Amino acid sequence: MKVRIICDNRAMEGYQADWGFACLVEAEENVLFDTGAKPSVLQHNMAASNVDPGTVDYIVLSHDHEDHTGGLPYMSSSNTKAEVIVLPSFGRLVRQQAAPLAVREITAAGEISPGIHSTGPVQGPMPEQAIALNTDQGVVIITGCAHPGVDVLMEAVSDLGAVHAVLGGFHGFSNFSALEGIPFLAPCHCTQHTQEIADRFPESYVEIMAGTELEF
Ligand SMILES: [Zn+2]
Ligand SMILES: [Zn+2]
Repeated sequence: MKVRIICDNRAMEGYQADWGFACLVEAEENVLFDTGAKPSVLQHNMAASNVDPGTVDYIVLSHDHEDHTGGLPYMSSSNTKAEVIVLPSFGRLVRQQAAPLAVREITAAGEISPGIHSTGPVQGPMPEQAIALNTDQGVVIITGCAHPGVDVLMEAVSDLGAVHAVLGGFHGFSNFSALEGIPFLAPCHCTQHTQEIADRFPESYVEIMAGTELEF
């Protein structure tokens, strides 16, 4: 599976950096996980990645914070087939911005598309979902802000098997022992303890930003 980081607080040359997160998983179907904060940034960075927004099959929104949902109007105006997958806790604005795309609420952990699972709503300061990919190398977990805690989100999909990678926003996560033994750690976006994670797991730490392409 291919994972492209589309929006992040930091960006490679040719991409716009902006506080927010979005990434595209290309597998049997294409899943956009979060949309960044602004339609214009999502549009610019998708074009820079040579991604046609019309080819996205599912748009999974991790949680109802604008730095993850704000780019949605670009998708609803440039895609006619994607299903927008939210949590029951999401407010009215996101549902309005998704129109005319169909919106589905996810209420439990489950498979969204072949090999791509959601944790379902995980409780925390704000309910949030992460996605987990079944890859040849093991389970790859992608988080939005991880407000409930990276360990709590990982636990929600622990039945899928050994975790190969965790990437995305880690927020203030500091229970570093939960990351022990994971071969690939790529905290980005809102992560507050990036330096500590890089120092403690030098073999696993990978720097990612908008424009990064990963193959699992
Ligand atoms: Zn965020
Ligand atoms: Zn957030």
